[in-house]
Amino acid sequence: MVSQPTCIAHLHCPPLIPALAAEVLISATNQSMDSWDQSPAATVLEQQLVNWLCQKFGYPAIADGVFTSGGTQSNFMGLLLARDRFCQTYLNWSAQKQGLPPEAPRFRILCSEVSHFTIRQAAALLGLGEQAVVPVKTDAAFRLCPTQLAQTLEHLKQENLIPIALVATVGTTDFGSIDPLPEMATIAQTHNLWLHVDAAYGGALVLSDRHRSKLAGIEAADSITVDFHKLFYQPISCGAFLLKDRVHFDLIKLHADYLNPESNQAAGIPDLVTKSVQTTRRFDALKLWISLQNLGQQGFATMIDTTIDLAIETARLIAANRRFELANPPMINAVVFRYCPTPLLPTMNDPIAWSNQVNRQIRTTLMQRGQAVLAQTQIGDRVYLKFTLLNPRTTLDDISNVLNWIQQLGQALE
Ligand SMILES: *Cc1c(COP(=O)(O)O)cnc(C)c1O
Repeated sequence: MVSQPTCIAHLHCPPLIPALAAEVLISATNQSMDSWDQSPAATVLEQQLVNWLCQKFGYPAIADGVFTSGGTQSNFMGLLLARDRFCQTYLNWSAQKQGLPPEAPRFRILCSEVSHFTIRQAAALLGLGEQAVVPVKTDAAFRLCPTQLAQTLEHLKQENLIPIALVATVGTTDFGSIDPLPEMATIAQTHNLWLHVDAAYGGALVLSDRHRSKLAGIEAADSITVDFHKLFYQPISCGAFLLKDRVHFDLIKLHADYLNPESNQAAGIPDLVTKSVQTTRRFDALKLWISLQNLGQQGFATMIDTTIDLAIETARLIAANRRFELANPPMINAVVFRYCPTPLLPTMNDPIAWSNQVNRQIRTTLMQRGQAVLAQTQIGDRVYLKFTLLNPRTTLDDISNVLNWIQQLGQALE
C-alpha cells in the first residue's frame, strides 16, 4: 500500500466520501436548478438548505439565498445588488433596465486592503471600474480599522464621491482575519451603505459552538458569501449567496416564457432561476445535504475546531522559536510566518531582499524534494510562508517536522 503523503497545505480534504458519491449522483441525474419542472425535488432541497443557513447566520424570516459556483460569484451578486439597490433607492433609476446612471463613475465600494481580489473584479464587471474600490487600512491583526474607515468616508464625501457599499471579510485569504462586524454594521447603517460580508472562508465557523461568537454581528449584513468548497470540505464547486431581505432579488429578476413565466409565480410555483445569475445550474446543494446527513453539524464542528486548535499550537511553536517570526495570531486556521536568517553581515546592503530570497528558496526546495508544499504570501515588501491548516488529520508532529526542515534549510542556505 502506498503511504499517504502528509498534506499541510490548502487541501480540500478527505473525510467526506459521501460528498463524492453525491457528486456522481449530481452528474448522473443531470438536474438543472433553473426551473421547477426540471428539478422539483432539487429545488425544494436547495431551498431548505438555504433557509437553514439563513437561520444559522441569524437572518430574519424574510431572508433568502441561492447556491452559487463559489465566492467569486457570490461576491459579484452582493455588489450587483448593492449597486442596483442604490440606483433604485437614491436615484430612482433601474440599472437592470437603463444601465449605469450618470453618477456611476463616482460610486465607491469600501473594503479592507487585504480583502479578496474578487471585490475589485466585481467592481470592474459591474461597469464601475477597479477605481471604485477604496481600500481601507487594517490594524496589526489584519482587520479593517473602523477609525480609518470613518476617515476614508469623510474624504470621499469631501471629494464629492458616492460610497454605496461596504465589504467586510470574515476570514481573509492570507491571514484568516475577521473584520470588526458590529462596528462596520453601525457605520454602514449611518452612511446608508449596503453591507456585504465575504465569509467565503470563515462562514463555516457558524457550525462551531466554540467559534461561532467570532461571527457576532454578521446578521446585520445585507448579504453574505459562503463557500462550501473551503472550510465546509465539499468537492468543488459549491457555494451560496445569502440575502437578508429577499425583496432585493427583484432587482435582478427576469422571466422567460419557456422557463419561468410570470403565471408560475402567480400560481405559487417556486423557481430558483430568478435569484441567480446562472441559468442551467448544477444541483450542488445535494453534496452539502448528504454530508450534513452523514456527519451532522457536530461532525463538521469537530473538524473545524480541530484545525483551529492545531493553528493555535502551530503559532505557539513558531512564536517560541527565535529563528521564526509569526505574522498573525491565527483567528481561524491560517498561520503566516517567516524564517529569519541570522544577524546579517554589516556589509550586506539589502537584508530584506536576502531574507526574502532565503524564504523563497526554502519553499522551492521543500517542494522539489517532495517534502512539503507550503503557501507563500507577501506583507509589504517581505515574503512570508503560510500554513492553511484545513485538514483535520494533520497533527502537530507533522507541523513540527516541517518547521524543523525549514529551519535546517534556512541554516544551510546561510
Ligand atoms: C476563496 C475566496 C473567494 C473566492 O471564492 P471562489 O470560491 O474561489 O470563487 C472570495 N473571497 C474569499 C475571502 C475567499 O477566501
